[in-house]
Amino acid sequence: MINSHSLGVGRSVSEALTQFFLIDELQSEISKVVAHMTGAEAAAVVHCTSAGITLAVASAMAGDNPSKIASLPDSSDMPNRVVIPACHVVNYGHSILTDIRLAGATPVVAGRDKSCTAYDLQDALADTRTACLLLVSSRLVQGNPVDLSEAVTLAHKRNLPAFIDGAAQDMRIPELLATGADLVLVSAQKYLASPTAGLIIGRRACVQACRAQEQGIGRAMKATKEAIVGVLAALDERQRLDITAWRAEQDRKVHWFVKQMSGVAGIKASEMPDPTGALFSRVHLRIEPVHRFPTASALAQALRSGNPSVWVGEHTAENSLILELVPLSREELHRVVERISELGRQSHQVGQTPATLHRE
Ligand SMILES: *Cc1c(COP(=O)(O)O)cnc(C)c1O
Repeated sequence: MINSHSLGVGRSVSEALTQFFLIDELQSEISKVVAHMTGAEAAAVVHCTSAGITLAVASAMAGDNPSKIASLPDSSDMPNRVVIPACHVVNYGHSILTDIRLAGATPVVAGRDKSCTAYDLQDALADTRTACLLLVSSRLVQGNPVDLSEAVTLAHKRNLPAFIDGAAQDMRIPELLATGADLVLVSAQKYLASPTAGLIIGRRACVQACRAQEQGIGRAMKATKEAIVGVLAALDERQRLDITAWRAEQDRKVHWFVKQMSGVAGIKASEMPDPTGALFSRVHLRIEPVHRFPTASALAQALRSGNPSVWVGEHTAENSLILELVPLSREELHRVVERISELGRQSHQVGQTPATLHRE
């Protein structure tokens, strides 16, 4: 077996491409490492979080029953309704409901208008043909927050497994497991920075039932050998990361950025803590209507079409932009600041008035 320790993600992956592996060996190594890091019973790697959601749902319907596994996505002889709070119906490129349906299940949205109370959940879970409860911990979630522990308890009262999609929450896995969830799903290509992969983490029987789907629909969602090796290397780097120093560095980057923006007329910058309790903040840029600055979307478009292309989050309702600085180097941060300042100056030259000129 490859020794991914200390090689780094890139080299581990490139060496893996020329070697042969027993996937079971790689998966049990992952399970051991993740269990050590998070306190979970077991873990496995699948293609991505989206695939992980589909497989978790499939596992709730078919368990380890070979004929049920073989018949999915035809779920006509199984409990096949998956309850999800209305405020958790998020879209990360496609709707999370698609991931549920891909397994052959039918989503049951609890509550409505982005709101879901404990009563709404209880109602939805009371359906006798219900397979599981799916929850999402993400900044994409809207409306009043659902108490994850309470929701998991409600599912368990009905003897149903509860799964949490925490795709970008790889730094909060123990916290999410502490809700009692049977599985927590995270993406390895987000903050862990491995090749694209999804980690399924939690109770051993549930992880095994997800892996049993490799004989069924999971074949099409399998992790490649190089992805699993890359995840092992990324986990190794994470274990050696000094989290306190990392957090301080992220804070410094955000403070610095906000300060740089104070010199740009037309932009009001502030620090925006992560709504899900992640360990870092983002930069919030509000575009002031009093200036002749482009709208937030025009600015985002201009940043995207520059070289290098800069992609930012848009909050069109508030005419504001959200910038995530975690993966950026110092040099890259300087370039982004320069680019925004330059776009600001250009816009003032186009429609300048004595007042804006003066302000600059
Ligand atoms: C990114 C994300 C996903 C999808 O993860 P992939 O690994 O890209 O499939 C699912 N749910 C949430 C909340 C996400 O943020």
